[in-house]
Amino acid sequence: MDLTGKTALVTGSTSGIGLGIAQRLAAAGATLILNGFGDPAAAQASLPGRSGFHGADLSRPEEIEELFAYAQRDFGGVDILVNNAGIQHVAPVEDFPVERWDAVIALNLSAVFHTTRLALPGMRARDWGRIINISSVHGLVASTGKAAYVAAKHGVVGLTKVTALETARTGITCNALCPGFVLTPLIQQQLDSRGSDPDQARRDLLSEKQPSQEFVTTDQLGELALFLCSQAAAQVRGAAWTMDGGWTAQ
Ligand code: NAD
Repeated sequence: MDLTGKTALVTGSTSGIGLGIAQRLAAAGATLILNGFGDPAAAQASLPGRSGFHGADLSRPEEIEELFAYAQRDFGGVDILVNNAGIQHVAPVEDFPVERWDAVIALNLSAVFHTTRLALPGMRARDWGRIINISSVHGLVASTGKAAYVAAKHGVVGLTKVTALETARTGITCNALCPGFVLTPLIQQQLDSRGSDPDQARRDLLSEKQPSQEFVTTDQLGELALFLCSQAAAQVRGAAWTMDGGWTAQ
């Protein structure tokens, strides 16, 4: 699979799943635009070839517009958009801090709307594009304590379907990936909050939800994202594709 000549924007790609997908797309020849709050130099150094970086806070629509102006000016636009940036907050509904609700919805859902609306005109002009939205198993099923996250991730699956329908007669596809637990900084934070022995905390977390008892890896998600960029996946449209060790089969 050769992505030479394509520019991929992966949001939240200074760590975790976003960085894993960026590395896989770059290895296939794509030019990468990275984004996120982590160390850009380290992330860029892990990629072959040319890459750019923009530190937009994606919970702020005006900064998303600046990111797309940068992508247009320095890279001629975005061919592959991976909406990956996301945060979590865990609390029961009645105690959920309103400010945390707004922050999770702004980043995990509204940012996906803004990047999509800004990416589509260029993709339509070129009649080719790939939009890959990193939803979650929590876009399909719920867990307690994750009201904002589950609402946002279900919303992303809905937005993915609408975008797929509105682009169905074009060379643009839009799909969602729905991972189970992947051991990234986001999940490490949840493990740390359990306060027990780290190995035990990992076993407990997996045994509650993930039948395989193994974490999904960022490399595996990178391979799936790469497949969705291929011609073989041209008729995969509006899917919510799980990679979850069997979580949602239960
Ligand atoms: P992570 O914390 O490693 O990465 C999140 C990235 O988003 C980082 O680069 C961070 O700097 C960036 N970010 C945070 N706030 C931002 C903002 N306001 N603007 C721009 N960038 C911002 O987390 P991860 O586990 O790799 O998660 C990536 C995505 O995958 C998220 O959408 C998450 O919901 C989803 N996901 C993760 C898992 C898992 O088990 N780790 C499972 C299912 C879905």
